Amino acid sequence: MQIKLLNDIVIETAGKQAGEIVKMLFGKKDVNEFLVAKKLKLTINQVRNIFYKLSNFGLVSFMRKKDRRKGWYTYFWTLNTEKALELLEKRLEKEVENLRQQLKSRETKRFYVCKTCKREVSEENALQHEFTCQECGEVYHLNEDEKILADLKNEISKIEKYKVGLSEELGKIRVEKGKKQMKLRKKLEKKTKKDRQNKRAKNKMLAKKNKQVKKPKSKKIRKKKKK
Ligand SMILES: [Zn+2]
Repeated sequence: MQIKLLNDIVIETAGKQAGEIVKMLFGKKDVNEFLVAKKLKLTINQVRNIFYKLSNFGLVSFMRKKDRRKGWYTYFWTLNTEKALELLEKRLEKEVENLRQQLKSRETKRFYVCKTCKREVSEENALQHEFTCQECGEVYHLNEDEKILADLKNEISKIEKYKVGLSEELGKIRVEKGKKQMKLRKKLEKKTKKDRQNKRAKNKMLAKKNKQVKKPKSKKIRKKKKK
């Protein structure tokens, strides 16, 4: 499921070839761009152009290494799954809202159509031109196409369904991320505690050492004073 979603957003952002990149990067980290170019039979510049596009939207991140011998950089790419799915979610929300508005205006307003040009206009527009087509002079007809309404409703429910699957995947990713962060926090806490203990032990030892060093010294001084 995740790979399909990623595929959709990546293709929408950077074109069909970018979809192949998802397959190569999914579940991996720091993938060498030369490897991608070779596998997709593209030049390194073509591959980089795709990656730059994706990077502009935060869908991938990179690190680079300089080849000391040849003096050029090689980029290593990682897919940002969470960000990509979030972007997809945002785009779908916009799309659904757009469709809902269209549906609402279809349900509340009337539209006219020229049957020759297949051009549709709003009622205001039709009225303005006395119900004749600007292109061919044909008389406008009231467009009562129930199919348009049905199609819009269909499209909305299709996207809504798709969005449910997407939210589930995003939820999974966030739970995993939370677990990882918790683990890291615990590890850090443990380390801090240990460091503190070590420091205390060290201080104790130092204090003990100081005492041992100071005592004979002070005796000597005292002895010297007595003499
Ligand atoms: Zn016309």
